[in-house]
Amino acid sequence: MSWNLIGHEWAEQLLAQHICHGDLRHAYLITGSPGTGRRSLAIELAKAVNCLNPPAPGDFCDECRACKQLSKLQQPDLSIVESESEGAMIKVDQVRQLQHSLSLAPYEAKYRVALLRNFQLANASAQNALLKTLEEAPQKVILILTADSAENLLPTIASRCEILRLRPLPIEALERALVERWSFTEQDANLYAHLSGGRPGLALGLSADKAALERRAHWLDDLVHLFDMNLRQRFVYSETINRVKDLLRMELQTWMTYMRDLYLVRSGSDSPLTNIDRRSELEQISASLTQSTILDTISAMQNALEAIELNANLRLATDVLMLEIPVANSRHD
Ligand SMILES: [Zn+2]
Repeated sequence: MSWNLIGHEWAEQLLAQHICHGDLRHAYLITGSPGTGRRSLAIELAKAVNCLNPPAPGDFCDECRACKQLSKLQQPDLSIVESESEGAMIKVDQVRQLQHSLSLAPYEAKYRVALLRNFQLANASAQNALLKTLEEAPQKVILILTADSAENLLPTIASRCEILRLRPLPIEALERALVERWSFTEQDANLYAHLSGGRPGLALGLSADKAALERRAHWLDDLVHLFDMNLRQRFVYSETINRVKDLLRMELQTWMTYMRDLYLVRSGSDSPLTNIDRRSELEQISASLTQSTILDTISAMQNALEAIELNANLRLATDVLMLEIPVANSRHD
């Protein structure tokens, strides 16, 4: 079989069977967190229905013109609806435009495929507009929606789709795949499998983004230093924190992965750590904290994140957080 995502074999088999048995749904909803493989699975489905030279029913060759065009997301019968910029809403006009192109017969493929990415970003009128298409789907059209979770869509949308829920892979499985398929060293595979929490797309993205990795190291170093600082020093630090909302959000999210790791180490859990490359530092610091202190810090960070999302005063949000970060012994030689 050419279907070959890492993990998610059950979903590939299910879709291949739908094709073999003439049982294709007119709409699928693929959910999971970013980097899990939602878009890759959607494109595999598009190839399997439109391959010009399928080696077996329900399969695709990955070599014909249609397959190659789909790999590049450039096939005349593939429509993609997505945010026009990071985090922007998907608007009703984008859905209307899609509806217009879906009303035409396929240009050259067997099916028109519409991929609606991260549809939780569609505002209510865009979602309502799509409902009509879901209820009366044109012939020879397959709609594939992706979203972080079905619960973040209108229930009427989710209930009209066959839902495929993708989960992150077990860390060891991703580690193995990174070594075998992408020639990572054992050490890199171990790091990126943990950092990505078992999400292949995220692991590959991170490994190609040196700046992101450096930023992460910098943020974690800052947090570790904060454990040692007195309040005055912390407020000075708070003044220097980046006020760009997206960066501040990422910084706090990175800190939260570290606090979660501290909790896992402190409580003796065998769940995989995110920041596996800092294990000895985590052990050192967690020894001077109680589990409940760690949990309190996590919820303080959560509160700061919520304040940021609500566009509260960012300086105030980080100042308040400074009061909540515990003092811990981070001296390690
Ligand atoms: Zn093909």
